[in-house]
This record gives sequence, structure tokens and C-alpha cells, in this order.
Amino acid sequence: MLVHQILNSKGEGAVICVKPSALISEVSQILAEKRIGGVIVSKDGKKIAGILSERDIVRSLALRGADCLLEKVDEMMTRNPVCCAKGDSADDVLKRMTDGRFRHMPVVEKGELIGIVTIGDVVKARLTELSMEKEALEGMIMGH
Ligand code: AMP
Repeated sequence: MLVHQILNSKGEGAVICVKPSALISEVSQILAEKRIGGVIVSKDGKKIAGILSERDIVRSLALRGADCLLEKVDEMMTRNPVCCAKGDSADDVLKRMTDGRFRHMPVVEKGELIGIVTIGDVVKARLTELSMEKEALEGMIMGH
């Protein structure tokens, strides 16, 4: 199972990006409306400046209080996020996410953003694959 197969199974939806100058309050609205846990930060939707997740916002709320909602994304985002390529294996991506303790990974090609995979996408794809393998093996054993 490769990253591009996971992207295909997710369909066409564009990656949700915000500009580094956006306010944390605006991003919180986007995360709630789109029911997602993180956004890619980019000026042009191609070159990645960073990533901002709900965890960053919750941590800042706990440390600094509601004033952090008026900060700019640029001040809170994680710079140089770990990225993957569409030819990387799902197992490799899962390991990097687990080791790094993050749940989002941008997919890049020639230095430009082409998609995003979450730990949920990877687990779902692996479970589907395992279930198909199980059915195929059962079919072979039963002689179907
Ligand atoms: P997450 O589990 O993805 O919600 O993020 C947990 C923490 O890791 C937050 O501080 C994120 O900004 C950061 N983070 C999320 N994705 C990545 C990534 N691909 N590379 C590096 N850091 C990340």
C-alpha cells in the first residue's frame, strides 16, 4: 500500500491551507467547520511554510490563555514539518508518524504540496488491505 493509493481513496478534495498571516481564531473556525485536526500553512498553496494542529492551539490556550487566539499562525506553527512522497509505503509513513508523535503528514512532489495523509487515513487503508488479504487467504484455504 503506497501513499498515492491512500490519496486516491480519499478522492479529489483540495488540501486545506491557511496563510502564515492568518489569526489563530480564524484557523480554529476552519478546523471546526471542516471537522479536521490540522492545516498546512502556505502562502501560495504549494510551498509549505509549516503545519498547525489543534494540539498547538490547545497547548497555547493552556499556557497563555485566550489571548493566543489573536496571534498569527506564523508564531505558533511547527516549521519544516516531516513530509512524505506519494511513492512512500503506508507502513513507513505510519512508523514516522508514531515515532514523531504527530498525526498529519503533507505529501510533496518536486518540493510542492500535493496532498495530506492523516494517521486515520493510513490506518483505514491498512485495515481495508488486511481484510482483503484475509478474504483472499480464506478463499484459497477453502478452495474457492
Ligand atoms: P498532530 O498530532 O498532527 O495533531 O500534531 C502534534 C504536534 O506535531 C503539533 O505540534 C503539530 O504542529 C506537530 N506536527 C503535526 N504534523 C507534523 C509533521 N508532519 N511534522 C512535524 N510536526 C508535525
